[in-house]
Amino acid sequence: MVHRNRSRVRRATVSRVGPVAASVLHRTDNLAPPRDPAAVWGRRRVLLLNATYEPLTALPLRRAVVMLLGGKAEMVHEDPSGALIHSASRSIAMPSVIRLRVYVRVPYRARVPMTRAALMRRDGFRCGYCGARADTVDHIVPRSRGGEHSWENCVACCAKCNHRKADKLLSEIGWTLHAVPRSPTGQHWRLLSTVQELDPSWERYLGDGAA
Ligand SMILES: [Zn+2]
Repeated sequence: MVHRNRSRVRRATVSRVGPVAASVLHRTDNLAPPRDPAAVWGRRRVLLLNATYEPLTALPLRRAVVMLLGGKAEMVHEDPSGALIHSASRSIAMPSVIRLRVYVRVPYRARVPMTRAALMRRDGFRCGYCGARADTVDHIVPRSRGGEHSWENCVACCAKCNHRKADKLLSEIGWTLHAVPRSPTGQHWRLLSTVQELDPSWERYLGDGAA
């Protein structure tokens, strides 16, 4: 289905945004429906930065375009493909990274959700036991023995170590960890743990987490 729709995807990339009255700029449902919403408008994400360039979230393309047209945000990086989006009165480049014109305070949230991708990034894609390239996640205290699925109880792990460790405790096999696993903090980690695909042009705004 994805392959069959490839040509439609390309057309939807430059589909018309449609007439946008100033009074409805904060709404997204007044934009002309794209021909294939699931393909481009639905999947594509734009990195939204605060006025201070701190990453905030990954927006659906449609919302990013509305913010640009409404003057709430400005373009930081255009999509390298050079695609254009047409509205009734103007054309704008397809955004990749946009920035709020006015700073917003972000409410403090204590825990960054743990995902496999974010855990791998935290540990630099290295096994917490031997330092080899990691491709699995190990529960330090095995789940079968009451271990939690948490930042503190999980490490990136190579397949070999994971297989050897199985459901044993570190104390039982005399292994040690290279570092004490902790929960990362910061908005860029929140983004890294929730966004599936990171656009390469976002990396420089994602700070430590993008290492
Ligand atoms: Zn290992």
